[in-house]
Amino acid sequence: MDLDDTPDQAAYRAQVRAWLDQNKGSAPVLQGEGALTDEDEIVAARRAWQGKLAEAGLAGVTWPKEFGGQGLGPIEQVICNQEIARAKVPGILDAIGVGMLGPTIIAHGADEQKTRYLGAMLHGDEVWCQLFSEPAAGSDLAAVQTRARRQDDGTWRLSGQKVWTTNAQFASYGLLLARTDADVPKHKGMTMFIVPMDAEGVTVRGLRQISGEAEFNEVFFDDVALDDGAVVGGVGNGWGTALTTLMYERVTIGLGGEGMGYNSTRFAGAIAGDEAARRDPEVRHQLGEIASELLAVRFTGYRTLTALQKGQIPGPEAGLAKVTIVNGAIRAGDLIADVLGPDALDEDSDWAYMISFLPGLKSAGGTEEILRNTVGERVLGLPPEPRLDKGIPFSELRSKEGAAA
Ligand SMILES: Cc1cc2nc3c(=O)[nH]c(=O)nc-3n(C[C@H](O)[C@H](O)[C@H](O)COP(=O)(O)OP(=O)(O)OC[C@H]3O[C@@H](n4cnc5c(N)ncnc54)[C@H](O)[C@@H]3O)c2cc1C
Repeated sequence: MDLDDTPDQAAYRAQVRAWLDQNKGSAPVLQGEGALTDEDEIVAARRAWQGKLAEAGLAGVTWPKEFGGQGLGPIEQVICNQEIARAKVPGILDAIGVGMLGPTIIAHGADEQKTRYLGAMLHGDEVWCQLFSEPAAGSDLAAVQTRARRQDDGTWRLSGQKVWTTNAQFASYGLLLARTDADVPKHKGMTMFIVPMDAEGVTVRGLRQISGEAEFNEVFFDDVALDDGAVVGGVGNGWGTALTTLMYERVTIGLGGEGMGYNSTRFAGAIAGDEAARRDPEVRHQLGEIASELLAVRFTGYRTLTALQKGQIPGPEAGLAKVTIVNGAIRAGDLIADVLGPDALDEDSDWAYMISFLPGLKSAGGTEEILRNTVGERVLGLPPEPRLDKGIPFSELRSKEGAAA
């Protein structure tokens, strides 16, 4: 692909940059001097900022125009991300909703669901969360045990537990994968639902991380009533619907690395301030290795973009990009911690959050082992993992998930 902007892309970039230059004064300040500290205030300010970005066409760039998006391609989305990072302002609050769940509803949802939910999601009026993972269903997501049982009047009753649910503490809705039929093999008996987070029987409990934040939660469902209009993509089609979300998740994380500030210029900046480290050949060597890996992953990212731009589904390399970015940033964090010493973990340090948060990112959006398995099978053509549960009804599986189903 051509790595320079085309004239149209350059014009688009200039337009985005001009808007950000004009409006960045009203963006919430999240780091450094004058930063907001109260969690409720941060969420309110970020929702308002998302609304402003959406009005200006800088959120949901690839969403169809009829749902409030711009109907543009993935390259314009990346240009937009790059310019938001350059302007040093926060991106949208609901990256999970707009980046992953909205596109799933666009692909599989009913017309009424699209009309009712998408606009409010895009503008940050209603934040969403992804209710997929459970204590015994993470990498093996098709093992979900949360049960939705159909009632005689066509409504549903939902019971079970989800975990690691980012943003559930302030979300209005969640997209939830539930088991609706335990008498068929596990991939076949699931259904996707829209769940109002304020429904009776929903309990959200925060999980505090080592970084001090509590970004994700355990969510419990105790006989929650859902009407038939809550089903997304048809009863029994939950796995196919979930795969759409997971594909968007890998693309969002894989292409978002630079937006998260994981780039070698920034890492070099931290080390350049230390005279001895700057001259240390070993430090320079390590930084060089990290920089070249991140550069390679940027070019791999362009392959993903090319596929998306042509309307194709990105290949497994999108998962490898995620592994490489996270590992590169972890190495950089270790190096910075060596150079800066304990100051690197000081509350005011630019690096404390990154260093303490990164190990968690190794698991999010597919663990390294799972993504490497996928690359082994689908890129290198290695034999697949043995799958002992194939074709067996979920209720007959001898593992603890089957016993509980
Ligand atoms: C920051 C963060 C945010 C998250 N946000 C959300 C969210 O909003 N919504 C949501 O639903 N989930 C969320 N998750 C959960 C995430 O999707 C899971 O952590 C992930 O799917 C892994 O599942 P697990 O944690 O249960 O690990 P497990 O699946 O229990 O894995 C444990 C270990 O075993 C390894 N392993 C498992 N199976 C295999 C295998 N077949 N071969 C080799 N090794 C294997 C794994 O690689 C891992 O090292 C989030 C996680 C993080 C860290």
